[in-house]
Parts: sequence; structure tokens; C-alpha cells
Amino acid sequence: MTKPVFLDFASATPQSDASIAAMQPYLQSNFYNASALYLAAKKVKHDLNNLRAAAAKVLQVRPSEVYFMAGATEANNTVIKGILGAYKDSFCIYSDLEHDSIRTSMLHVASQKVTVTADGRINTVSLKNSITDNTSLIVCMYANNEVGTIQPLEEIMKIVKKVREERSKSNNLLPLHVHVDASQSFQYVPLLPHKLGIDSAVIGSGKIYGPKQSAVLFVKAGTSLQPTLRGGGQEAGIRPGTENVGLIAGTVAAVLETDSLRLSESKRMHELQMYCVSKLQNMQSVTINGSLKYRLPNNIHISCVGYDNEIIVMKLDELGIMAATGSACHASSDEPSAVLQAMGLTTEQIQGSVRFTMGRTTTKKDIDKAVGALAKSLLS
Ligand code: PLP
Repeated sequence: MTKPVFLDFASATPQSDASIAAMQPYLQSNFYNASALYLAAKKVKHDLNNLRAAAAKVLQVRPSEVYFMAGATEANNTVIKGILGAYKDSFCIYSDLEHDSIRTSMLHVASQKVTVTADGRINTVSLKNSITDNTSLIVCMYANNEVGTIQPLEEIMKIVKKVREERSKSNNLLPLHVHVDASQSFQYVPLLPHKLGIDSAVIGSGKIYGPKQSAVLFVKAGTSLQPTLRGGGQEAGIRPGTENVGLIAGTVAAVLETDSLRLSESKRMHELQMYCVSKLQNMQSVTINGSLKYRLPNNIHISCVGYDNEIIVMKLDELGIMAATGSACHASSDEPSAVLQAMGLTTEQIQGSVRFTMGRTTTKKDIDKAVGALAKSLLS
């Protein structure tokens, strides 16, 4: 039997050899609690400091601005609840492009939703018009997990800069914190928080060939975050609990490796993406969703109008292709994708939507197989 083709890298990536190797020393021989006082534990603490410094170097931030979290979901929750908890009576701006860890958090805080353009980007006019004197937080992901669209962060930061200047002139001390979920973008778009002017950002390790349930969170120095968890004060109180240094080592190794592969993989992915798109564009009843210009190079998101995506994905699976309907990042639910609805896709387009996301092992042959299997699935 031929090996199945995995085209769902936006939902999970296999852990890389470098990441696994980095974890090994901490699983048995150096298992000590980094807060203990004996020499062997102090060595682990020292390693933890070095890991933090290594991650900080990639992001070009201070080591004290880097926190290790138990996953992107936790990090997103920590920032949203932390900011809105610190600034009572303030509210947050977001859009339906955000991952469920953010969208569902919004149901529990004061929030205002802004609109999305037809090509899958946040509407910056709607965002600008939604900012009031009580806005303390803007959440905008770097790139979307379903359609792969890269968001206009630089444009948003121009708007934010102006508001911050006006606030300082009128003595409005409420911060305008910008949080960026870079979980999907980090492989292809560098994350330089200070250059962008943002206040916090998260990279989920499980999307960059690191261990799952682990993430790097940047929070700008001086930010007031009300802690959501209480405990022993680790991670400056933002994420208390005994540090899992092995998991952190695996995560930081994945960050370093991803950073070093970014250029070559982006180029390779883009070529494969264009190859795949050109093939799909010749297929009847297939349309491509979302901007092709502002898009992660590993994402191909289509609608097969008149078809049911769950049936397509099951047929693809039988033909040896693993793909996703809409977004496979959330627990299965019958709710139509909020992202595609916000983009104004019709019910039929949403029902027939399929996502292929490529990764380090994807080849041209895989794309040929996937397109062939898709054609077969739509015929049968
Ligand atoms: N943010 C984005 C953009 C994602 O794609 C995901 C994927 O699930 C998450 C956050 C949540 O990551 P995790 O499930 O690892 O907490």
C-alpha cells in the first residue's frame, strides 16, 4: 500500500528530530524542579534561562518578555482575560477570523466584533471606527488558520499609533494593547514584536514541529496582566506551575529550526501552492477562497459548490489523502465556519469547503495525488 499523503499541517505537525533530541536530557537525567536549591536543579534553571534567551533572540525581544505557556489556547486566554481583568470597564476588539480560543473567550468579556473583507482580511475601516476611549485591547491574528490570509498588521498598527498619541495628549491612561496570534504565520512570516509595535504575541509549538500543549508568549515589558492562574509564581506569575523544561527545550528547538528554515520553506511552499492552484483553477465547480496575494504559502482553501465537504474529506481519506474541512483546529461541531461566513461565502460554498495545508515533507507528487484524488471524489 502506498503511504498516505498528509495535507493537514495547519492542524498538526510531526515533532522534528531536533525538537525531540532537545527534550531528551530533561525527561530522565535532568528531571529536577528548576526551583530547587541543589546544584543539579540550578543547572536546569540555568538551562531554562538560556532557552528563554534563545527564544527572545529570535523574536528580538528581552528574555524577560518571553513566557512559556501550555499551548496557544492558554496563551490567548491569558492575554485576553489578563488585560480585560486589569482594566475594568474596558473592552476588546476582534473579528471572526480569530481562532476559537479567542472567539469563544470573547463571549465572556466586553467585546466588539469588526467586519472581515471578502478576501479574508480584517476590515481596517471597521476596526478604526470601533475604537473608543474604552478600548483596551485589539486582537488580530497574523495569519488565519482556515484560509491562510495574512492580516494587515502594519496598517492596523498605524491606526493604533495615532490613537495612542491622542490618548497621551488627552491624558487617557488606558493602554491600547495589541495581541497577535502568530501560531500559523511563524513558519513563513518572521515575528518581530518590537518592530511591529505590538504588545503580545503567541507561537503555538504544535504547529511548528514542536511538542503540543506548549507555546511561547511574548508580553511587552511593563504590561499589566491580571493572572488567570494562581500558584507558585513561575513564569513571573503569568503561568504558575513547575516548569516542564523538557517541553520548553523541545519548543525552543522548534522555534530555532523553524526560524532557520523560513526562507527556503516559504519559497518551496509558494512554488507548490502555485502549482496546485493552477491545477485546481482548471477544475469545474472548484473555486479558491481568500486572497492569493496576502496568504501563507502552504495554504490552499477551496469550495466545491454542490458537494458536501465531509463526504469529500472521507473520500479523499479512502484515496490516501488527509485533508480538512474548513478548520480542523476546533473540536468537531456542526456549526458552519465563522471565518467563511464573515467573508460572505454562501452556504453552498461553506458546505463544500476543503482545506489543504502543506508542510516540510510535501512534494509535487503529493500535490498531483491530491488533485487527482479530489477530481475522483467529485466524480463519484
Ligand atoms: N491559534 C491558532 C491560529 C491556531 O491555528 C490554533 C490551532 O489549533 C490555536 C491557536 C490553538 O492551538 P492549541 O490547540 O495548540 O492550543
